[in-house]
Amino acid sequence: MNPEQSASGIPTSDCIRCGICCKKGGPSFHHEDRMLIDKGIILSKYLYTIRKGELAYDNVKGCLLPTDSDIIKIKGRKGSWACVFFDENKNSCRIYENRPLECRVLNCRDTREIERIYAEKRLTRKDLMGNIKGLWDLIEAHQSQCNYGKIRHLMKDSEDKKNDASESLPEMLRYDRQIRLLLTEKSGIDPEMTDFLFGRPLTETIRAFGVRDS
Ligand code: SF4
Repeated sequence: MNPEQSASGIPTSDCIRCGICCKKGGPSFHHEDRMLIDKGIILSKYLYTIRKGELAYDNVKGCLLPTDSDIIKIKGRKGSWACVFFDENKNSCRIYENRPLECRVLNCRDTREIERIYAEKRLTRKDLMGNIKGLWDLIEAHQSQCNYGKIRHLMKDSEDKKNDASESLPEMLRYDRQIRLLLTEKSGIDPEMTDFLFGRPLTETIRAFGVRDS
């Protein structure tokens, strides 16, 4: 069956590469994308992790929800949501031949395929670094200390919990800052990789829970 066609002759369901999706943010990674990271085609300094339990906008459900696993994403350009690989001048993707799965299937004129794969087989930090002894231990320790489930529990609406939060949260924020500093200073790891290794700084992400870093 031929797809319907617009006046210009372009099937109404085809992606016309207008760049609007790329300006709204980069894709999340799935198992199929692993080799892009393993082979260094997409460097981890261009990635960040939404950690398990963090509040994130679900593009299919259209609301903010706590994530049930890591979501690894391509960063936005400074001060904008636009994917770091989007070239504004040429209105094109700098890594088009190697763009991740979500970019290949996303078509804003027919979203069935992206909806089907959106939450399936997400790539996690454990998939990528679970066998790197030392580094993985640090990531697990950070995940345990700066756990979003714990933060959500602390912020539940009771005076006692707020008192707990006033003691525990500054400690978590300190830990989150220090582990990033420690790793970059001692190991020489590029500071731009820390949003991938430990997620975005807690000072930014806890705002979604109604907390302000003072
Ligand atoms: S990787 Fe390329 S296609 Fe995908 S969002 Fe970024 S610029 Fe767009």
